[in-house]
Amino acid sequence: MLGLAGIPLGFRFVFLDPAEDACAAAAGPLLQAGFDDLEAVRELARQADVATFDFENVPESSARAMAEIAPFYPPPQALGAGQDRLAEKDLLVDLGAAVPDYHAVASRTDLLDGLDRVGYPAVLKTRRFGYDGKGQAVLRDAEDLERAWQRLGDAPLVLEAFVPFEAECSLIGVRGAGGATRFWPLTRNVHADGILALSRPGGFGLDLQAAAEETMRALMDRLDYRGVLTIEFFLVGGRLLVNEFAPRVHNSGHWTIDGSACSQFENHLRAIAGLPLGETDMQAPSLMFNWIGSMPPQSDAMAVGGVHWHDYGKVPRPGRKIGHATLTADSPDLLRERANRLAAIAGGRFPDLLSTLLAKTL
Ligand code: AMP
Repeated sequence: MLGLAGIPLGFRFVFLDPAEDACAAAAGPLLQAGFDDLEAVRELARQADVATFDFENVPESSARAMAEIAPFYPPPQALGAGQDRLAEKDLLVDLGAAVPDYHAVASRTDLLDGLDRVGYPAVLKTRRFGYDGKGQAVLRDAEDLERAWQRLGDAPLVLEAFVPFEAECSLIGVRGAGGATRFWPLTRNVHADGILALSRPGGFGLDLQAAAEETMRALMDRLDYRGVLTIEFFLVGGRLLVNEFAPRVHNSGHWTIDGSACSQFENHLRAIAGLPLGETDMQAPSLMFNWIGSMPPQSDAMAVGGVHWHDYGKVPRPGRKIGHATLTADSPDLLRERANRLAAIAGGRFPDLLSTLLAKTL
């Protein structure tokens, strides 16, 4: 999606991905190698005027190796800062952001101490290499604890209080070469099994938007940031707690391709290329459906007005994001009507997830 956004700007791309069938190959030549293959990442950097990434588990050491050869944004330290859930939370607390109560877990004793502090229910997560709900478990009782310890106990962990959130949301922002910033509207997200299913921008009110932007600005300043940054929040008791941040374009910002003046992908490229940033206003009420594991029949879905279809050309696998559709409409009422039609066509859990998303609990 970065490639697709950049080609009209006159940029050309070369990609590195471990997968033979990486869908980026549709937008430029592909070097097939591991993210930890230092020779390959150096070769990538030698071919580039500027380098970036859209996957946060790229090793910081690879980023540093590339940064010695080509300008590399966001800076490698931003990549490192988000890779360890414990260091990430410590940094957020240091910046004055509110986070769920948390406790480092290196042993079973730590886990029991942590549970004494945060109580049941709690969420146990691996410190590294977790995303889309992978490497985590909800603990509701001692039985869950045993099971989770068997499964995750070999890795360094962090225990968090379970947050009984009213809503989940994300803020996506961008910081350019001269330090200018722009932010898209807070976007409400609904997950299924820890994987993003639906996103809808807007509706949060100015105070929450300002609070979220303040947290992001502080983080961007601290990391000497350049490019697009995402922070995921829980809304609980009318205030925002940070769940995590990702130093990259984000799935909850895919609606910006069709619903915003300038997409997250184009603004990321503008930022790293030193161009002026584009406008981040929402141009029309928008709502994104993520296609996870399978896609609804394309012709039925595309018969719904205002559908913008995005097929990544990936082989379907359970839990794999293989495409999305963004709905836009002239009014919130029309958006709702179209969303209900698309949810009925998509079936499965979508009708229920959509009613959660559209419920006015903010
Ligand atoms: P994560 O990989 O940390 O973003 O977690 C994936 C999803 O699990 C989140 O989007 C939430 O829906 C849920 N989750 C994670 N941490 C917590 C928590 N502390 N309390 C409640 N739900 C959580």
